[in-house]
Amino acid sequence: MGSWKGIIEHYRSRLEMDDDSPVVSLGEGNTPMIFSERLSERTGLEVYLKFEGMNPTGSFKDRGMTVAITKAVARGAKAVVCASTGNTSASAAAYSAKAGILCVVLIPAGNVASGKLAQALVHGAKVVEVRGNFDQAFEITLKLEGPYPIVVVNSTNPHRLLGQKTGAFEVCDGLGRAPDYHIIPVGNAGNITSYWRGYREYHADGVTQNLPQMFGFQAAGAAPIVLGHPVDQPKTIATAIRIGHPASWDNALAAAKDSGGEIRAVTDKKILEAYRLIASEGIFAELASSAPVAGLLQLAADGRVAKGKTAVCICTGHGLKDPSWAISGAPKPVQVDAQMDVVAQALGF
Ligand SMILES: *Cc1c(COP(=O)(O)O)cnc(C)c1O
Repeated sequence: MGSWKGIIEHYRSRLEMDDDSPVVSLGEGNTPMIFSERLSERTGLEVYLKFEGMNPTGSFKDRGMTVAITKAVARGAKAVVCASTGNTSASAAAYSAKAGILCVVLIPAGNVASGKLAQALVHGAKVVEVRGNFDQAFEITLKLEGPYPIVVVNSTNPHRLLGQKTGAFEVCDGLGRAPDYHIIPVGNAGNITSYWRGYREYHADGVTQNLPQMFGFQAAGAAPIVLGHPVDQPKTIATAIRIGHPASWDNALAAAKDSGGEIRAVTDKKILEAYRLIASEGIFAELASSAPVAGLLQLAADGRVAKGKTAVCICTGHGLKDPSWAISGAPKPVQVDAQMDVVAQALGF
């Protein structure tokens, strides 16, 4: 949409903005909510995929980052820092570049998808690989903020969560109501927290008359909330949710409990199946983004969701960030001579 100017301009009155601070935006938000014929047919529900991979840096992180960087700049910050499994750093790097400030990124060495690392580098972030996992990198980030003039833009930054609730507004604006079921991947649990805030805010203000049940899905090898204890060595192919000590743990539990939903787990095998399933319908979302789709199929198989209801799965990031899983699971293209008849023969015509 040519007139779309990003989530701050569109939802300004709901984002606690000072009118005079310059907005740092790359036109985030307004992402498509795509009706899924296949998932609807398989589950008996009306299923939509909100494709957050269509944000400027390819993930929902941009919704929070536009607010966090706008507020940081308004406070005179010259540098920001984040720990990241990839998408937070990609987003922080891009919005910092737009604002003309320094971005420092701490990533777990060897565990970030190449596309995400490329994004941080191309936007000029100072990238430090930490020999450890996300949780350890994040701990260091928090310690840096006190003694050094640098603002943390992880989801513990309240402005991130403020911006991310606009996802819920868009879902409701698109459907004309809140969905019956909201299904979302859970890593650090900031996003489920934000969505639940957004849905409640619209409901409290009378914009919507209903609230969704909130279902969050962790990967089985990185499911601290489901297990009820932290996981020191989280394991999953869905790197964006490979988190063993979620920052917003209590909020995620509250969202599930207060809405009549649940936090559940799905195996990597089911995540990969879901990844291929939505790809077969034209949507290339990253592995973590496929967890809610695997989750929806699990809920339907368990009879936990009622037919005829509306479900929205949040597909949080774009598949192009980590194409290795797409390529490894597909047949190798055949190679032939550059002749029409040879090509036709190879196609079986
Ligand atoms: C950050 C991220 C998540 C996890 O979101 P939380 O707010 O940490 O729960 C899921 N999917 C993708 C693609 C992400 O980038």
